[in-house]
Amino acid sequence: MSRPRILVTNDDGIFSEGIERLAAALAEVGDVYTVAPDQERSAAGHALTLDTPLRAKEIGDRRWSVNGTPTDCVNWGVLHLLRDERPKLLFSGINLGLNLGDDVTYSGTVSAAFEGALLGIPSVAVSQEIERGFTFDAAAQFATRLGRRLLGETLPAKTLLNVNVPAGQVRGVRVARLGTRRYGETVIEKTDPRGRPYYWIGSTIPVGELEEGTDIIAVAEKSISVTPVHLDLTAYHAMELLEGIASALSPLGEPVTPRS
Ligand code: MN
Repeated sequence: MSRPRILVTNDDGIFSEGIERLAAALAEVGDVYTVAPDQERSAAGHALTLDTPLRAKEIGDRRWSVNGTPTDCVNWGVLHLLRDERPKLLFSGINLGLNLGDDVTYSGTVSAAFEGALLGIPSVAVSQEIERGFTFDAAAQFATRLGRRLLGETLPAKTLLNVNVPAGQVRGVRVARLGTRRYGETVIEKTDPRGRPYYWIGSTIPVGELEEGTDIIAVAEKSISVTPVHLDLTAYHAMELLEGIASALSPLGEPVTPRS
């Protein structure tokens, strides 16, 4: 029986240590193909390159760099490089830094897994907490075991797994919901040598709320957090409110079709 194909990508770039560790960890599970940005694209979100040509460079055995975003890499990998036999799994990471709570909306690491899930491939984002003396060992071991397990499971449609690994001794694995964390609501203004202002958005220090059941508290308590993330962003609890507003705004005064 042929070994399953696994696509590995990230947003820290093809030369990051995290992606090498992830590829090595998953080589125990299947045939790994690495397709990643040629430079760091952290916080690129789900961006897709539409106005410039993409170039792919083979830089090693089943290793390719692309001058685009993580989402570009997933598309090129699945729809071009592996088009004759799609990958059975997609892993993104291991990101240098956590992607907890609200981070998922900015994260290139998570967005690559979003794209995999949209393409119908079981997809996982793996991120590592950075602290003095941290290693990728626990994250790599977990990726091997999770990858092996996922080959025999079916994830719900349009659902990816967001995995965060604490630095130091890991106490366990917890299924957790996304928490809330922000990076200080500030814009820092400085002046360049020509006297013109320039800006940095926000601070680098996340402010998280330690709510029970969240990924933030799981990692704070030294557990690996696993969060199933669904791509249907509809706020179902707000639909009734909106139906009222929309019918009042209807130009012909017609009632809006209620939801069934
Ligand atoms: Mn990154």
